[in-house]
Amino acid sequence: MKINQAEIVISAVSKKQYPEEGLSEIALAGRSNVGKSSFINTLINRKNLARTSQKPGKTQTLNFYKLNEAFYFVDVPGYGYAKVSKKEREKWGKMMDEYFQQRENLKAVVLVCDVRHEPTDADVQMYDYLKYYELPVIIIATKLDKVKKSKQHQHVKVVKDTFEVDAEDIVIPFSAETGEGKDQAWQAIKQYL
Ligand code: GDP
Repeated sequence: MKINQAEIVISAVSKKQYPEEGLSEIALAGRSNVGKSSFINTLINRKNLARTSQKPGKTQTLNFYKLNEAFYFVDVPGYGYAKVSKKEREKWGKMMDEYFQQRENLKAVVLVCDVRHEPTDADVQMYDYLKYYELPVIIIATKLDKVKKSKQHQHVKVVKDTFEVDAEDIVIPFSAETGEGKDQAWQAIKQYL
């Protein structure tokens, strides 16, 4: 897909602020620092539209990026940051529930994980949470360039096995460094738009 137009429309903290024109949305979730912003920037061919790494303490927001005036990418704040307080975690959970439970425009979720490591408990929890709400999930196993070619297949298998990926979902090996997996990611996303 060629993205000619990309703009951030709103950083929302509550559902009152969500856009109202009814365009389809693809949400993007992942552990802090996993490479989610790099994934978004690679897909839309921008160096730095999606801000990298929201540090704890900063306001956590759902960032709505409107693409080609046709649909939205919704960047969800990263999870699994050890230093986040209980209160902040609760706030995050409430924001997630408000969005994932109730948002009709939401068509699918991209879950970004690190192909170098077995998905963490927090990753698996996130996947199970999304499946509980019966959302289609596209798993992006990123930083593929950091794994030796001969080991890549094995790493992808560990990702699939650890998530116990549903039949309707796929795992796409990806690298923001080389662009590998970009076309496949768009293909997977397009079927939900
Ligand atoms: P976010 O917090 O999930 O949005 O993560 P970022 O996109 O900010 O990425 C975190 C770090 O990982 C940055 O230093 C990126 O340059 C690096 N990174 C992200 N994706 C890749 C990738 O595919 N390959 C490599 N080698 N580094 C990556």
